[in-house]
Amino acid sequence: MAKITMTTPLVEMDGDEMTRILWKIIKDELLLPYIDLKTEYYDLSLNYRNETNDQVTKDSAEAAKKYGVAVKCATITPNAARMDEYKLTEMWKSPNGTIRAALDGTVFRTPIIVKGITPCVRNWEQPITLARHAYGDVYKNAEIKVPGAGKGYIVFEDENGNEIRELIQEFNGSGVLQGIHNTEKSISSFARACFNYALDLKQDLWFATKDTISKKYDHTFKDIFQEIFDSEYKERFEKAGIVYFYTLIDDAVARVMKAKGGFIWACKNYDGDVMSDMVSSAFGSLAMMTSVLVSPDGIYEYEAAHGTVQRHYYKHLKGEETSTNSVATIFAWTGALRKRGELDSNQELIAFANRLEQATIQTIENGEMTKDLALITSLKDVRVKNSEDFIKAIRNTFDSLA
Ligand code: NAP
Ligand code: MG
Repeated sequence: MAKITMTTPLVEMDGDEMTRILWKIIKDELLLPYIDLKTEYYDLSLNYRNETNDQVTKDSAEAAKKYGVAVKCATITPNAARMDEYKLTEMWKSPNGTIRAALDGTVFRTPIIVKGITPCVRNWEQPITLARHAYGDVYKNAEIKVPGAGKGYIVFEDENGNEIRELIQEFNGSGVLQGIHNTEKSISSFARACFNYALDLKQDLWFATKDTISKKYDHTFKDIFQEIFDSEYKERFEKAGIVYFYTLIDDAVARVMKAKGGFIWACKNYDGDVMSDMVSSAFGSLAMMTSVLVSPDGIYEYEAAHGTVQRHYYKHLKGEETSTNSVATIFAWTGALRKRGELDSNQELIAFANRLEQATIQTIENGEMTKDLALITSLKDVRVKNSEDFIKAIRNTFDSLA
């Protein structure tokens, strides 16, 4: 059979450890035999990032901007132990952070639903996509441990030295203080990314903060979302038959628990951190989750939501068998290939991505899966596969669907 051709390259960001091993097997078994794969390759392995003083990460982000679609393997974010392990010249920043900053994006995570892996919440029938704002708030704060009695202020000084000053608390004794911020630019980008993604998925968008208590900070988020919705998206939402709705975060949590799923839930940075872990673990596993970074001007970077699975990699290096779940990495590829197909009107590529996803799900539903899923499935007659054989089993299913 002739291979599917591509007109525009994908930006391919290779990574580290066990996911790098999976990356190669996925390409060899599931992609290269079927597609005349066109990629612009960037090696984001820690060694090469170190060798290039992290220039390769910045270049890969620029390439993503140029081509519009990227697929990224999990990468090591260096810590003290990695400094020694990889003899690093510097503790390089998280590539995800660098790429996110360059693209000014929002991260969307959606569980991959298969029969036999049931969500803990009984009424969740369809996936819930979590949209997390990835800028500011408590992640870029200033804190003071208050030593004793005194006054705590929040102060803004403009370029001419004029001050706005608010008393936070008059302390009688020791305590703590915290200052946080966000920008109109970042909140607006977040809002547009969410509205665009809702239109893409044709799903309702929920957004929630605590504006009744935080009358300026959270209220600004609420207002910006509403203004942008009314002026830019209202009609398009009506045409698509979807709704945007705002509610309080505690109300949203209560509603989510009773919902059927099938919507996007936008969260501020901290809420998104907490709620995405809740949603993903309630749906089953981080390896059964898609993750895509979407920029306000329509750049897409697909990745797996988990890390480099270091523990499995060390087993692999010792020659021991591993059973690492490659589903999230496969779906990073299919997500990117489908998006490339949509942008290039390449129907064959879109069909390929859909079929590979179908084959992946069907393989698991047939009882062939990796160890992490075997531990939680309700299916009987399960055949546990090692990392490579699981991918080969997907290839068999894929060929049988032809
Ligand atoms: P991790 O790679 O997500 O793995 C944590 C544990 O979760 C594993 O030991 C494994 O449990 C389980 N697990 C995760 N993915 C799995 C999969 N695909 N199949 C089966 N089991 C899976 O997190 P980590 O070990 O904390 O981090 C390792 C490295 O990844 C770090 O250097 C970190 O910086 C990096 N990281 C990168 C990204 C990214 O690039 N997106 C995200 C997070 C972390 P068992 O060992 O019990 O089997
Ligand atoms: Mg977290």
